Amino acid sequence: MTKSSVLGYPRIGADREWKKALEAFWAGKLEENELHARLQEIRLDHLRKQQAKGIDLIPVNDFSYYDHILDTAVMFGIVPKRFAYTGGAVPLSVYYGIARGTKDAAASEMTKWFNTNYHYIVPELNDASPSLTENKPLIAYLEAKEKLGIEGKPVIVGPLTFLKLSKGYDASETDAWLDQLVPLYTQVLQELADAGVQWVQIDEPVLVTKLNDGDVQRLNKIYSAFASAVPNLNILLQTYFESVENYNEIIQLPVQGIGLDFVHGLEGNLQSIQTSGFPADKVLGAGIIDGRGIWKASLQDKLTLLQTLTSLVTPERLIVQSSSSLLHVPVTTAKETKLAAELKEALAFADEKLDEIVILTRALKQTDADITAKINEAELKLQALQRSGDRNRKAVQDAVASIRVQQPNRSHPFEERHLAQQEKWQLPLFPTTTIGSFPQSTEVRKARQQWRKNELSNEQYSAFIRDQIDNWISIQEEIGIDVLVHGEFERTDMVEFFGEKLAGFAFTQYGWVQSYGSRCVKPPIIYGDVEFTNEMTVEETKYAQSKTDRPVKGMLTGPITIMNWSFVREDIERETIAYQLAYALRQEVEALEKAGIGMIQVDEPAVREGLPLKQDQQANYLDWAVKAFRITTCTVQQTTQIHTHMCYCEFHDMIDSIEAMDADVISIETSRSHGELIHSFEENTYELGIGLGVYDIHSPRVPSVEEMSSMIDRALRVLDPKLFWINPDCGLKTRGQEETVSSLKNMVDATRIARAKH
Ligand code: GLN
Ligand code: ZN
Repeated sequence: MTKSSVLGYPRIGADREWKKALEAFWAGKLEENELHARLQEIRLDHLRKQQAKGIDLIPVNDFSYYDHILDTAVMFGIVPKRFAYTGGAVPLSVYYGIARGTKDAAASEMTKWFNTNYHYIVPELNDASPSLTENKPLIAYLEAKEKLGIEGKPVIVGPLTFLKLSKGYDASETDAWLDQLVPLYTQVLQELADAGVQWVQIDEPVLVTKLNDGDVQRLNKIYSAFASAVPNLNILLQTYFESVENYNEIIQLPVQGIGLDFVHGLEGNLQSIQTSGFPADKVLGAGIIDGRGIWKASLQDKLTLLQTLTSLVTPERLIVQSSSSLLHVPVTTAKETKLAAELKEALAFADEKLDEIVILTRALKQTDADITAKINEAELKLQALQRSGDRNRKAVQDAVASIRVQQPNRSHPFEERHLAQQEKWQLPLFPTTTIGSFPQSTEVRKARQQWRKNELSNEQYSAFIRDQIDNWISIQEEIGIDVLVHGEFERTDMVEFFGEKLAGFAFTQYGWVQSYGSRCVKPPIIYGDVEFTNEMTVEETKYAQSKTDRPVKGMLTGPITIMNWSFVREDIERETIAYQLAYALRQEVEALEKAGIGMIQVDEPAVREGLPLKQDQQANYLDWAVKAFRITTCTVQQTTQIHTHMCYCEFHDMIDSIEAMDADVISIETSRSHGELIHSFEENTYELGIGLGVYDIHSPRVPSVEEMSSMIDRALRVLDPKLFWINPDCGLKTRGQEETVSSLKNMVDATRIARAKH
């Protein structure tokens, strides 16, 4: 009969117990054996939960001490040379060294896991000689079986995905690497089969990206090798995050099951399966409960979809499962006590999704009164939120409907604005500025906490913030910076700060998700129409401006960044949400301008994070992302200077979109890929104001004047000196005061040298 399954369960624990254990261990407050014991407790607890809910195929080996890609590398003994690893089981100190760096060796790079906000550690193949150090999936399987009697389904990252996510080798060496890895994988699978494993889930999310012929052949080679080595083991080849590209080739692979995403790849996958059919000898893992979204599913719609699928695959060959691992959603809504009832009841985090999967699996077998009631109840809860006032803000809806059909253009083209702005501001050649935040000392964080606990009154807290602003305005003047900022001392987080002030947002108490390692984020929830209610930044900015004759830049987070770092409603298009945010932020931009602030920065560091995986959808996304930025900023006078800032990613292939934002000045992170970016400016002209970060703010090191001078000289070989600004790479929130002041002094010195040369 139809089985229920989950692709992976969150590691962090309902109260972030996992994070706390890891960090206690790193701080030396927990012995290694205590860490093992605690993590085992957490792991078993998660298994028990899934067992109690009635999940048939419970994933094992989805748990990790840090990251599952790192686990895979370490399992195969792939450890960068600098960690002085000599073979055999990889010690925990080496494992965490790769992830976090040691005093002698830099950490491995980390990067985004497909289009999620999870980050994995990039394996460095280089001169590694792979060997099987331990069979982690087997250990996990045996543990679940012995301790809980669970017949687990080991989850393993597949060889093609593993290789494609690794670095340190040339494309021409791909087959040689596979020849080394496949036998090791085979050994893992062999041992699993010998231990009695029935199903393994081999994750190959790269199958949702375009594969070349070579890769299709490699897939065949890999899975044929597995099939002949372990004919009795059932392999479920799992894909997620989009529809698969090479459906016809994939269904011919010699595996027993194929897992497809019917949430994020619904259209494509459904079309493939309807056009080409699904092989009668395989099992279909139907990912119909969203592993990434936080909303309750319409069980009625899901059931209809399942019924469509059962016309193509017999119920015995169907597995009802999550669309991806549940790693990307918080653990449970049960502990939330502060959300409005109609919102809370429309949410489904990991545990609630387990229930949905089980209900749907049961519903396929038979519909009894209990199941019908549950299906109806879900419908009612969703409708209640849908009808709520928060989702029906007519004024916003009307305004956005009319704005989206207008051209969001500034009153004058850049060339004219630039002259008018120069005349108004009289800035020197190579104006200097910073990105927004200054060090958030323990003092600042303490004051904020006290204020949140009502230990500081609003007046006391504002006075404290004003003191900070005073201090940093005079520091900036002393150093000789041209365009000042107020320092963002009142903000913990650049998204949360605005979310708390705009209508349409909600904040959970425990809705954490893993971002990388022990680092978790608690994204706001955009559940209603977003509406501007009160000025958000005017008071502090105006105050800062009153303390200096130099211009102070207002500082806002852009619509796309707010959206990409939040969980968003799914009843309307992301594009519409972006425009609602843009319209709300535009009102703040206008308020700042009205208050006499003549330079306004709208940060968009997270634009790239929303880029669709499918190439043919990327241009459309970038178009409306750019449009949202322009809606936010287009109504100001020509002399008001709009800045933006971007970081955290590669920009060299997005320069046209960045230019289309039409910001008067962009400050952009460069330190991590300076060469590449400069190179792309050689090929593309960029004809608006631009500051390439001249120093990396991620390290406590104070960069020398010479270093920054050479960065400046290099940039000026390709960029127009009249449009060039000088600034650090990003905000300085995480740095100390002393190093910040020294670095900025050097930056201003380097600027003086550059001015003298021009
Ligand atoms: N203005 C923000 C700051 O300086 C920008 C942060 C960011 O780019 N992530 O902190
Ligand atoms: Zn930044």
